[in-house]
Amino acid sequence: MSKLKQTPPPADYPFGYQTPPKRSGNDINGLGREDWFQPDQVFHNTGRGSGRDDIDWAAMDMFFNMTNPWSMFWENMKALWHRRNAAGPVTREPVKVEDPASMAAQVKAKAMDIGIHLVGISEYSDKDQLKGITFPYKYAITCGHVMNREEALHVPFKRGATEVMRTYRVGNQQANKLAKYIRSLGWQAEAYGIGEDLMQIPQAIRAGVGHLGKHGSMISKEHGSNFRITCVMTDLPMQIDQPVDIGVDDLCATCQRCVQDCPPGAIFDEKQWVRGAKKWYVNFDKCIPYFTHTHGCAICIEVCPWSEPGRGPILSEKLLAKRETATAE
Ligand code: SF4
Ligand code: SF4
Repeated sequence: MSKLKQTPPPADYPFGYQTPPKRSGNDINGLGREDWFQPDQVFHNTGRGSGRDDIDWAAMDMFFNMTNPWSMFWENMKALWHRRNAAGPVTREPVKVEDPASMAAQVKAKAMDIGIHLVGISEYSDKDQLKGITFPYKYAITCGHVMNREEALHVPFKRGATEVMRTYRVGNQQANKLAKYIRSLGWQAEAYGIGEDLMQIPQAIRAGVGHLGKHGSMISKEHGSNFRITCVMTDLPMQIDQPVDIGVDDLCATCQRCVQDCPPGAIFDEKQWVRGAKKWYVNFDKCIPYFTHTHGCAICIEVCPWSEPGRGPILSEKLLAKRETATAE
């Protein structure tokens, strides 16, 4: 039984966007490909690195931005305004880091102090970058920002979408503060929030913030999928985290919640080959028109059982115990 506050519109809606994208988003993403290749931008394209106007789905992205309700547009504008503080000068000699583990703990404590709900550290990999864009940093600090669940349950309507954008705006500000703190230690750091040209999900998985769910979004033990991520890139030496296993795959293997509740039927029930890895994948060509029409949709994120507040730790414990019993038999 879905907890969404209103019934979502059906997928056979009248949709004002008329120009078909030049190429299938699934083809660009490498659906069905068993070989790895550098990913390319497809849709959101407002990041600092690109300056490109040849992105296949850019016109639909523009349509998305132009048809958003005012409350969402306003939060987005404020988020973009905060981007001016994403980077800045380093004004002192770098502090010496003799113990990367204690520096990681110090940075995480600062992140929590700022109000960031989830934090994990990974080493930056060239595989995280989109074609033609490079990042001159060694580490990525993934930050998770929890949405107000009561507001988020209003997706896929204006009220829920505004909560998503508000969370990104707050996330941008918090990531900026963390980057500024690291710069105050004498190490370069830069915050990356919404709309950046950086693949943040692989970093978040490596950093142990959560796992990829069947719905193509992150699932954390503490907050399910009811959060958004930003990132701080830096050279400050820190001990990196490891991926976590909370039992996401065990539940996704049999759960059908998001598959059944996705109006355009975009969620594959089986893992797919995508650029050299078999993983959960959402049919881009089916999802994005509905996503655009509904100001960012996010139904799958909110109906996921992990997103129910307080449920994640219990679910994880049960799933892992069940697996252990099955392995022992
Ligand atoms: S965001 Fe996409 S995949 Fe998720 S429910 Fe909406 S249309 Fe389906
Ligand atoms: S709704 Fe179910 S299948 Fe979908 S991501 Fe959540 S646990 Fe997995």
